[in-house]
Amino acid sequence: MAKSKEPDLMDKLNSLCKRRGFIFQSSEIYGGINALWDYGPMGVEMKKNIKDSWWESMTQLRDDIEGIDAAIIMHPKVWETSGHIQNFTDPLVDCKKCKQRFRADQSVGKSCPNCGGELTDPRQFNLMFKTHIGPVEDEASVAFLRPETAQGIYVNFQNVLGPSRQKVPFGIAQIGKAFRNEISPGNFIFRSREFEQMEMQFFIHPKEDKKWMEYWIKERFDWYLNLGIKKENLRFHQHEHKELAHYAKEAYDIEYNFPFAWKEIEGIHNRTDFDLSRHSQASGKDLSYFDDQTKERFIPYIIETSAGVDRSLLVFLVDAYHEEEVRGEKRVVLNLHPKIAPVKVAVLPLVNRDNMPEIALRIFHDLKHYFKCFYDDGGAVGRRYRRQDEIGTPYAVTVDSQTLQDETVTLRDRDTMEQIRVKIGELVELVKKKLA
Ligand code: ATP
Repeated sequence: MAKSKEPDLMDKLNSLCKRRGFIFQSSEIYGGINALWDYGPMGVEMKKNIKDSWWESMTQLRDDIEGIDAAIIMHPKVWETSGHIQNFTDPLVDCKKCKQRFRADQSVGKSCPNCGGELTDPRQFNLMFKTHIGPVEDEASVAFLRPETAQGIYVNFQNVLGPSRQKVPFGIAQIGKAFRNEISPGNFIFRSREFEQMEMQFFIHPKEDKKWMEYWIKERFDWYLNLGIKKENLRFHQHEHKELAHYAKEAYDIEYNFPFAWKEIEGIHNRTDFDLSRHSQASGKDLSYFDDQTKERFIPYIIETSAGVDRSLLVFLVDAYHEEEVRGEKRVVLNLHPKIAPVKVAVLPLVNRDNMPEIALRIFHDLKHYFKCFYDDGGAVGRRYRRQDEIGTPYAVTVDSQTLQDETVTLRDRDTMEQIRVKIGELVELVKKKLA
């Protein structure tokens, strides 16, 4: 289904996310705060699953990428050297009448889109959040919340290289919070002011940049496909020269067909030796690499893959949302990949008598050692299935009267709604196989 043809999908998702405990507006009881979001019980599970899938594919399944977790607040010199203090800006225009602010590069015309008033000339607005370190609030104590996680990797290049005994080409991966004082945030969690990034910096010989760029573009595209995102909703966008960030030689975005437009979900950038060279010069520390095979010393080029956790989560939700009619009733399903689904198995007693709850609880306490499970004995079983469909639970186990006779339960598939009978003793292995 072409998601762009469903303009009200974002409203439906927004309401589902609140109702079912995925995402809430931050500080909601105080009226909320713009472009900041809290993740509820389902959201936090889903977010963790996305991060785990990325971490597994980027570190556990590879021998050439190491992990790191750097501090959010870094030495202010980092941001001077990286060019963020000077260049991490968006052009801002103010409406002289209603005082609203807009990004001038996001196709705002000559007059205010809100009230038609006259707009100021654009001026550059730095997106980094400022804070102070220590008790004195002066220029010398200014620090920034990181607007990208990448810099924490560059400044630790030698720290990781030594102990890990990696050789170029190799990468460093990091998942963590980033902060941007966006001028026009919006579209739910698509653009917020606090978000998480999953970034990987791959250090290579400068002559191999084309090859590695192609390699990572494909790898990252496939990651979304392997987690069930529909191919027709994904595409590439290559940056033209004028779009390139200040550090980049070549850049591709992976874009997703959101209900509001095709938009970037991940950037793959050839950052050249820009960052390591600059940090080397500014810190006076040698950030070059010596190849003991070729006896060559060089500053590695970097191919960066930069994805957003929250934006990916929105992609998974949008892509999975599905409505259909079943026996005259509307069924809302999230067809999430089992790896991403917040709950893997629901365990339900058909009715609350004849020992069924006791058996179901026993199964639940057994299965929860292997999968994230949910026990539900409230209301008609059909309703309970619908509740699980709506949060994307791939399987439901139901204890019924036949269980009492032959120790079997039903296993219901979320997508086909088909049920098969399975021996209780074989449940774990079967579900493991199905979720693999
Ligand atoms: P945009 O043009 O949308 O502002 P960008 O080109 O500045 O994005 P990058 O700096 O390449 O984005 O960031 C890499 C990834 O981090 C993005 O693809 C996105 O997934 C995520 N990201 C960036 N900014 C935000 C934000 N404000 N809210 C949520 N995710 C974000």
